[in-house]
Amino acid sequence: MENTITDSIKITPITTSKLDKVDFDNLSFGKTFTDHMFECDFKDGVWQTPQIKPYGPLTIDPSARVFHYGQAVFEGMKAFKDDKGDVFLFRPKDNFNRINISANRLAIPSFPEQYFMEGLKQLLKIDEKWIKSGAGNSLYIRPFVIATQACVSAAEANEYKFMIICSPAQAYYVGDVSVLIAEKYSRSANGGVGYAKAAGNYAAQFYPTNLAKKEGYQQVIWTDADTHEYMEEAGTMNIFFRINDTLLTAPISDRILDGITRKSLLEIAEKEGIATEVRPIKVNEIVKAAEDGGLKEMFGAGTAAVISPIKAFGYKGNHYEIKRPEKAFASHLKKALMDIQYNLTEDPYGWRV
Ligand code: PMP
Repeated sequence: MENTITDSIKITPITTSKLDKVDFDNLSFGKTFTDHMFECDFKDGVWQTPQIKPYGPLTIDPSARVFHYGQAVFEGMKAFKDDKGDVFLFRPKDNFNRINISANRLAIPSFPEQYFMEGLKQLLKIDEKWIKSGAGNSLYIRPFVIATQACVSAAEANEYKFMIICSPAQAYYVGDVSVLIAEKYSRSANGGVGYAKAAGNYAAQFYPTNLAKKEGYQQVIWTDADTHEYMEEAGTMNIFFRINDTLLTAPISDRILDGITRKSLLEIAEKEGIATEVRPIKVNEIVKAAEDGGLKEMFGAGTAAVISPIKAFGYKGNHYEIKRPEKAFASHLKKALMDIQYNLTEDPYGWRV
């Protein structure tokens, strides 16, 4: 019989679970991890036998290329549990595809689909008790790859570690946020790595975000690096605007991450007859719409929070408030998406797995 990946994942279970010690009503995002982790090394030109083992620290040579050249990519996805106790992933194939798109840009070898999907399935099965049912509760899943080859010369590695770790989560952002539109800093450029979930993209965002925080804003709206005239992303989320009754978002490019939430919201909106426009969006257009009352909503979209409403933005020393309308697209679309994720409704799109 053919040796499938299912029987070749080496599983070493924990002896004592940490589950009892976790206060699920007071989780801070990304700080608590489940009992197990998935690990697979790339060596001698091939991905080796994957393992699921107790969650814990790694031993990595200080000269490993990831520490010096940032050769690292990651993904962010979630598992949900319905009231019957069944567990679902949301469009996992898209996360799998995207980690390899990111890996390719960072000269990291592709990870095999069967390892990814089966590894995920087995890991969720062994740590199933960590997934709580109820809206807002989920298990945040973080697959990532790092260059582990011990060598400080500046070139791609020939050894890597692929891992999946999981963290129980409640809602991510709390409340509506104020954002500052970038006039100087950029998160990406043409020909760059903006479309990849490369670790360094995020490191480079912290400093400008801290400057925005000093001015009283929680996030930065990234504009295009050439002119700073076009709105591109909202912090670590894709950006949406509602002008009158039209939903707008920027097109995907090599500067913008192809967000799974973004494309799902667009599909839901279209199906529900909401007018959508995917096109470059000028900062001036939004400022004008904010001034004349046409700007009804602005929000970020991403796996962690689904939708994060924006209540105000700062630009060129001015501050603009957005009054949330009674029938907000944001709340409607968020509910529609979450109902699919939590198996509360039919899934005509085939997104629930
Ligand atoms: N843009 C950036 C830069 C992000 O890091 C993320 C989060 N992965 C998103 C957008 C949203 O993508 P997704 O909906 O797939 O989570």
